[in-house]
Amino acid sequence: MDNLPHIVVVGGGAGGLELVTSLGNKLGKKRKARITLVDAGLTHVWKPLLHEVASGSLDANTNEINYRAHARKHHYEFQLGRMNGLDRKAKELVIAPFHDEEGQEVVPARTISYDTLVIAVGSTANDFGTPGAQEHCLFLDSLKQARRFHNLMLNAFLRKNHEALQGHEHTLNISIIGAGATGVELAAELRLASRELPVYGMNHLQPSDVSISVIEAADRILPALPGRLSAAATRELERQHVKVLTGQPVSEVREHGIIMKDGTELPSEMTIWAAGIKAPAFLAELDGLEVNRGNQLVVEQTLHTTQDVDVFALGDCAACPQPDSDRPVPPRAQAAHQQAGALFRTLCNRLEGKEDVPFVYNDHGSLINFSRYTTVGNLMGNLSGHSMYIEGKVARLFYLSLYRMHQVALHGMVRTGIIWLMDRISRAMHPRLKLH
Ligand SMILES: Cc1cc2nc3c(=O)[nH]c(=O)nc-3n(C[C@H](O)[C@H](O)[C@H](O)COP(=O)(O)OP(=O)(O)OC[C@H]3O[C@@H](n4cnc5c(N)ncnc54)[C@H](O)[C@@H]3O)c2cc1C
Repeated sequence: MDNLPHIVVVGGGAGGLELVTSLGNKLGKKRKARITLVDAGLTHVWKPLLHEVASGSLDANTNEINYRAHARKHHYEFQLGRMNGLDRKAKELVIAPFHDEEGQEVVPARTISYDTLVIAVGSTANDFGTPGAQEHCLFLDSLKQARRFHNLMLNAFLRKNHEALQGHEHTLNISIIGAGATGVELAAELRLASRELPVYGMNHLQPSDVSISVIEAADRILPALPGRLSAAATRELERQHVKVLTGQPVSEVREHGIIMKDGTELPSEMTIWAAGIKAPAFLAELDGLEVNRGNQLVVEQTLHTTQDVDVFALGDCAACPQPDSDRPVPPRAQAAHQQAGALFRTLCNRLEGKEDVPFVYNDHGSLINFSRYTTVGNLMGNLSGHSMYIEGKVARLFYLSLYRMHQVALHGMVRTGIIWLMDRISRAMHPRLKLH
């Protein structure tokens, strides 16, 4: 076992977990290589589901994958820990000490040696140093943060319901800073949550008492997507009584409000930061590997880092060039999924002495889901390169298929079919909103 080439993947997210699964199934099972996944958490939840967990329309428990159990089934090893350093000469990565919830050290700092290293540690929201953002904003970068948001939201609803009962002022102001796909979809999820609450006994709080605003610095929402999509999304948000504020850069976040660049103040009891992304800061100090301004590891077309052919990066933490554009591959789940596929082929090729596979991003389009209301999007024609606008049930079907593709990569077709069936039964049996 010890003589086998050791491939270590750090980060079991949208891209990393798909990669270790296929490597384990192909190389680990046949003992052609030893595959290890390192992740800072014990379980995986597909990140694009986090805003549904936050609003309570999805119970994360039923969509959580335990790394240890998954590793056993798919012939890879799992190590719990947070990478924070690298020694490229010794071919060792450094894992920070692991502490329990009371701050007691469980495992000291340690090293793991590798032959090939893949870094897939994702990204976090980028507050661009905005004063007050870290102290007063909620973020949706992890399952823990999504669950915290959910609890705070339920408590805020309960508090306002009680204040309404007492005849006091009871408007709840929720603001989302950043109107990319995450901010827009979250607004729709929160609107659904505010509509469902009276059904579950909070009869004194009306949906109109929950004021939801989406704030965007650019002159339109979804600035990275085609204009037609952003116009349709604006119409849909306004139909759901979500306030859309564009051309409004935020200069400060306070405990109960947001200060705009022009000095106006918007009251806000719950503020969510959903604008921009940056890769984890430790990547900028990784034994001389090249990073860009957002801490992303700069990689070649074949996904290995510019300084080291045995260290690869994929997903949100990688700045991968695109042949026909001066912008890198966008930080999206479909990009991480495609990169995992390309890197799988490269790593298999390397064991057979064959060439690395160059990665070319194939943009299949973008879909924006307005909770259970509607979905809008554009699909890219593979041959023509032109996009086709879609909405409603067809768009929703394509939107759902993104997650199903991830599940197929992790569990195979048959198990994904069973999971789909169980999801349907679970939705029929449980309340539409998670109430705890
Ligand atoms: C709310 C939300 C909604 C989104 N919706 C969509 C969507 O609809 N469509 C779309 O295409 N994209 C969407 N995205 C973006 C998408 O989730 C990301 O592009 C994608 O998850 C990136 O995959 P990844 O593998 O690079 O990283 P991630 O999926 O973020 O996984 C990173 C993993 O690395 C682990 N990790 C982090 N640091 C360390 C460390 N130091 N050591 C060890 N492990 C570490 C984490 O625990 C995590 O498991 C959404 C994002 C959010 C936040």
